Amino acid sequence: MAHALYPGSFDPVTYGHIDVIRRASALFDSLTVAVLNNGAKSPLFSVDERVNMLQGVCHDIPNVKVDSFSGLTADYVTLNGYNVIIRGLRAVTDFEYELQMAQTNRKLAPDADTVFLTTSLEYAYLSSTTVKEVAYFGGDISKFVPREVEELIFKKFKK
Ligand code: ADP
Repeated sequence: MAHALYPGSFDPVTYGHIDVIRRASALFDSLTVAVLNNGAKSPLFSVDERVNMLQGVCHDIPNVKVDSFSGLTADYVTLNGYNVIIRGLRAVTDFEYELQMAQTNRKLAPDADTVFLTTSLEYAYLSSTTVKEVAYFGGDISKFVPREVEELIFKKFKK
């Protein structure tokens, strides 16, 4: 059985992430999407808010569950017995960092392999950071995130 973990910030989840989630869920027996509680970043959304958003957009995908964790991805992987780590690749700019992380995680959690899904072309430009920037200046983000996520982003910026 292949149990996959898709870790990330998801601040917020975009159509790019959702595309990776759908494709990975079709490839593996189960998929856990997990929000990394990273103290080094100052996110727009709390971990609980990001988990709720992910649960909302994944509710129709049967073999997907949503979780969160702190600390090393490799430790979380070992503790929960995942054998696949999913990451998305958009452009060469992602590659060097992702390769280094995959190799580090392989040393720390030798039972798991990182599998990269290349972005679908229509989402290649899409990042959570871009979505937040466009929303901050009141731009149209309806092509980047689902409606419920869009509403939550604008609610944050109104505060
Ligand atoms: P992190 O801070 O861990 O990079 P992100 O939420 O930004 O978290 O991204 C999580 C994963 O999803 C990363 O592997 C990233 O490359 C991938 N990803 C982000 N946006 C896209 C996209 N538009 N298409 C494919 N993969 C993506």
